[in-house]
Amino acid sequence: MSVGKVYLVGAGPGDPELLTLKAIRVIARADVVVYDRLVSNRILETVGAGVVRIDVGKQADFHPVPQAEINETLICLARAGRLVVRLKGGDPFIFGRGCEEAAELEAAGIPYEVIPGITAAQGCAAAARIPLTHRGLASGVRYVTGHRKANEPLDLDWASLADPDTTLVVYMGLSNIEEIVGQLVAHGLAMSTPVLAVCQGTTPGERRLCTRLGALAEAAHAAAFSGPVLFIIGRVAGLALERSGHDGATIAEALSVMA
Ligand code: SAH
Repeated sequence: MSVGKVYLVGAGPGDPELLTLKAIRVIARADVVVYDRLVSNRILETVGAGVVRIDVGKQADFHPVPQAEINETLICLARAGRLVVRLKGGDPFIFGRGCEEAAELEAAGIPYEVIPGITAAQGCAAAARIPLTHRGLASGVRYVTGHRKANEPLDLDWASLADPDTTLVVYMGLSNIEEIVGQLVAHGLAMSTPVLAVCQGTTPGERRLCTRLGALAEAAHAAAFSGPVLFIIGRVAGLALERSGHDGATIAEALSVMA
């Protein structure tokens, strides 16, 4: 039997219309779709009824399928001749462990292809109609992870991240938001720096919070977000703040504009 193929596919941030044509084409041809928790239900609805679905999603209190097992599943399915779509939220190679899976497939001699997706930063910024770079406001953008291993401090270069000329996008940062704000302020980023927090961006459940760095931690907790949250920190977020018609300095203000 001939070996199948694995497509590492970005599902985008949630809105199915943000899937690429290439993603839609391989999903339509797939024998099996192996997907993560971040892949929205609306996107799963695009998977045909006859396609086998394997949920390897990670829930907070729920044991995730270990990465080694996911790798093994992809390899076994491909060896059995299947056309496999490995569907990941956003872009598979941005905080998605897609490259680890690619390396395993490569080592096993399995043909694979990577189909990029719209990462959360792009989807959330566009949904809020703000740019990530803009002449005069931000000359660059950095994507960082705010997630850390249990009991270890975040391993980030705070001095370089506390840069008012660069937009800072924090993925997986909600549970460590106090530490993130504290470090940025300690390294010189102004408390007045605008911040946009987006929860479940590009989905019908999207909620946005416009605030300033000094009020962020408390406002983010008060918002009681449920679902993935992304923080966009920097002058570009000031455009969302201006549109909201308030100064963003207080928690009450931040919460008042939430959708
Ligand atoms: N590969 C994904 C990121 C995976 S890490 C991508 O390219 O987007 C998971 C983190 O992504 C979440 O904790 C959150 O910070 C962010 N995220 C993913 N989808 C999101 C969405 N729809 N709205 C807000 N944040 C999102």
